[in-house]
Amino acid sequence: MKLDSESKRRLIAAVATAVIDNAEELTALDRAIGDGDHGLNMKRGFEAVLADLEGLAEKPLPEMCKGIGTHLVMTIGGASGPLYGTLFLALGKDLPSAPGLPEVARAFISAVTAVKSRGRSDIGEKTMLDVLVPVAKTLDTAAASGSSGNLPAQLCIAADRGLEATRPLRATKGRASFLGERSVGHLDPGARSSQLLVHAACGALSGLMAGPGGQSA
Ligand code: ADP
Ligand code: MG
Repeated sequence: MKLDSESKRRLIAAVATAVIDNAEELTALDRAIGDGDHGLNMKRGFEAVLADLEGLAEKPLPEMCKGIGTHLVMTIGGASGPLYGTLFLALGKDLPSAPGLPEVARAFISAVTAVKSRGRSDIGEKTMLDVLVPVAKTLDTAAASGSSGNLPAQLCIAADRGLEATRPLRATKGRASFLGERSVGHLDPGARSSQLLVHAACGALSGLMAGPGGQSA
């Protein structure tokens, strides 16, 4: 899958717009179990990404991902900045310029592993990892079976289930962990922002991923 500049522009714009358009909801979720800044943090980060849309879209895929990660690290405050920054920087480190599905799966798995080690966290702790880990597993399964036909839909379902799975969990990482049992019954804001990112990326990429073995275009 080789993305041309126009595809990269569409991908970045879709992902950034999804976050910016839902900033109020992210903030409301963070108000319930955190300090109410997740929407603002993410909006600031993705506005910086959007402001560099043309420059990022001209770069090869690995440099584009690193560029996004650098913007996020530099502009998002709080816990989520370094974590999302790590995700995109690690993706940039591991993705080749024209990846097939196996390379995408491998790079995403190692990027999620980098987030885990940066956050000293894992699935089941009511964080963004409750979405990112199942999405990585779904990619891995699809890469192993070599079938990518309805992969965008499968990734969205994995993200939706991961988000919903955070509701009954008690947070053990991040600010929400200070609430203990009182964090139960709420969706995690970072899991929601990850689910938004997955939906937006899959929507923008679905045409490209539908080709045989994910190698089209
Ligand atoms: P802060 O908590 O510093 O205010 P944000 O509100 O921007 O930062 O981000 C909060 C989100 O970050 C949480 O909802 C959670 O998904 C994620 N998060 C916090 N700590 C961790 C961690 N150690 N590992 C993974 N994700 C985390
Ligand atoms: Mg917060």
